[in-house]
Amino acid sequence: MPYNEPNPAEVRVLSKRFGIPNSQSIDVYLANEGYQAYERAAKMTPDEIVNVVKASGLRGRGGAGFPTGMKWSFLARNSPKPKYIIVNADESEPGTCKDRLLVEFDPHQLIEGIMIAGLAATSNQGYIYIRGEYRYLIDIMNKAIAEAYDRGYLGDNVRGTGWKFHLATHTGAGAYECGEESALLESFEGKRGIPRIRPPFPAVAGAYQSPTILNNVETYAAVPSIFRMGGEEWAKLGSPKNGGTRMFCLSGHVNRPGVYELPMGFPLMRMIEEVGGGIRGGKKLKAVIPGGSSCPVLKAEECNINMDFDSLAAAKSMLGSGGVVVMDETTDIVAVALRIMRFYAHESCGWCIPCREGTTWLRKILLRIYEGHGVASDVDLVGELSKNMLGRTFCPLGDAAAMPTIAFVEKFRHEFEAYIQKQVPAAQPDPLLQLASV
Ligand code: SF4
Repeated sequence: MPYNEPNPAEVRVLSKRFGIPNSQSIDVYLANEGYQAYERAAKMTPDEIVNVVKASGLRGRGGAGFPTGMKWSFLARNSPKPKYIIVNADESEPGTCKDRLLVEFDPHQLIEGIMIAGLAATSNQGYIYIRGEYRYLIDIMNKAIAEAYDRGYLGDNVRGTGWKFHLATHTGAGAYECGEESALLESFEGKRGIPRIRPPFPAVAGAYQSPTILNNVETYAAVPSIFRMGGEEWAKLGSPKNGGTRMFCLSGHVNRPGVYELPMGFPLMRMIEEVGGGIRGGKKLKAVIPGGSSCPVLKAEECNINMDFDSLAAAKSMLGSGGVVVMDETTDIVAVALRIMRFYAHESCGWCIPCREGTTWLRKILLRIYEGHGVASDVDLVGELSKNMLGRTFCPLGDAAAMPTIAFVEKFRHEFEAYIQKQVPAAQPDPLLQLASV
């Protein structure tokens, strides 16, 4: 996949080596500050490492935004069991495609981040759980791991320090649910990918019931730059309580879609206008999904907002996984809501009833509205069904399906009503949609 041209507004820290020929190789990595962060971290105690990560203000880049240093500090390091480092490379939130670039263009940065997590955890083993559809990335990652073994950055005696650390890839089968950390662990252990009841959390009982640090690709990839720059300096790249930069996946109706590394807290409208080159065809902005399909939509008038976890939460949405989907004035919100619900109904693992039944019924009702068979009570029904799912499921997938739907209905109710009142032509039955609604 080609990488888009750098934009002047970007602050390239994690993506600084993107575009350098053969950036996947260990020689290019070593020639460009590679593994220097590990050398620094190797001189620190585990507590010192955790404190550097805490000082950086790094928050998990998978979606939840939990402070990474705090997560690492919860690890039951004194347990006699082995400790594991697991990487969530199961990127599957619609609108999100940045982890793939971090693996494709800079796999050694990821390995170095995993190693530093390994030092913090006194771990001897890490695994990278990669979704099955990213087959080509598995090959890139395996090659980089083999290079790291050859140069002594992985193995029984890492760089002559006596520390043993091994790393391997593990292939998922391509299920959205396996991006949820406890379902990922089940799948990793060879079982059906359904979530675990918590507590205990992975920091106490994760992989093979042993203490485990589990983070997203972008989170680990940020760690080497934190140790090169120092935690406090890295934090200053972003906004208060939202340290560093973020890989934003800008898609939809902009002139220059792409993955851009911008400071945390970067204004959304600047992202659309300055980085994305404005709305395609000179049209007006209608709405933005700010962090992947599970995040409640923002109307155009709500888009004067800074892109960090806290600002989006204050606006009753989420920064999520950084997938920014821009929609212009021609966008059919009913079609968008239906398309998203088709995804969640398909990806529901089926373990709990509110999600399994709720997503299926929402998909059916949205489809009948879209195809011109809706009745007046359907709009309220969609809203109520969604609200009944909120907080009543074993894992966040139920919420991920309900939250955007509630926002679509609340903010664009008139569009649903227009379909029901036949003010807009009903969509032609789509054989694929029909099939999906069986
Ligand atoms: Fe499975 Fe959905 Fe329940 Fe999560 S919320 S456990 S995906 S059925």
